[in-house]
Amino acid sequence: MKLPTIGLLVMVFLATSSFSSSLTDVYICKGKYSKKYHYKKNCRGLSNCSTDIYKVTLSEAKKIGRSLCGWED
Ligand SMILES: [Zn+2]
Repeated sequence: MKLPTIGLLVMVFLATSSFSSSLTDVYICKGKYSKKYHYKKNCRGLSNCSTDIYKVTLSEAKKIGRSLCGWED
């Protein structure tokens, strides 16, 4: 009876990891020239943001044409 249990755990793990990656929160600046998204709210790329910093999901950031900030590692 051990095999089905492991199979179930693997399925739950895979489901959870893909679920969480699509719901990753990123930070964006809504300034006129902002085209990037950031994983860290205190990122260098956000330090001279002239507007508020907004938290959105990664998929949302990509949908509005943002790409990953060059300061992120
Ligand atoms: Zn950044």
